[in-house]
Amino acid sequence: ARPVIAIVGRPNVGKSTIFNRIIGDKLAIVEDKPGVTRDRLYGRGEWLDQEFSIIDTGGIEIEGEDHILRSVRVQAELAIEEADVIIFMVDAKAGVTPADSEVAQILFRSQKPVVVAVNKVDNLQRADDIYEFYSMGFGEIVGISGAHGTGIGDLLEEVVKHF
Ligand code: GDP
Ligand code: MG
Repeated sequence: ARPVIAIVGRPNVGKSTIFNRIIGDKLAIVEDKPGVTRDRLYGRGEWLDQEFSIIDTGGIEIEGEDHILRSVRVQAELAIEEADVIIFMVDAKAGVTPADSEVAQILFRSQKPVVVAVNKVDNLQRADDIYEFYSMGFGEIVGISGAHGTGIGDLLEEVVKHF
């Protein structure tokens, strides 16, 4: 079976933008679990010769769950269950937020490999904005821009090292 990558992070950091750039049009069909809608959130991608499955956990709808922090937590837990490697996405423009710290704690405990993707690094002036995210305690951090499509190869290169 293909290794599985999960993209985790609070709403609005750019998970779906990056997911779509990585899969192109290669959506995968999956069965929904009771109480959880996962349709359209699984895709396939490849980097060099390495094929993988990828999940946009931010789109997972938890039935009856409308509290953002709680649903981000449940999405992170589902990702940990299913993924071989986790992309933890944050927003360079926003910096480290309390919701990011919440997700970081859950991922830390999981002991799964985590690569931090700092999205919205849209220009060179913003390249230094990635450093504050080292305070979350994860060693691998890559700056990317979903808007421009930059850094995604560097990100996948780090991720596939953990397969
Ligand atoms: P999600 O909620 O994490 O899935 O985030 P989305 O992919 O829906 O993106 C949230 C918002 O951020 C949208 O308005 C995107 O257009 C915007 N966005 C995504 N990537 C970038 C980026 O690299 N730079 C900037 N400036 N905006 C971005
Ligand atoms: Mg989304």
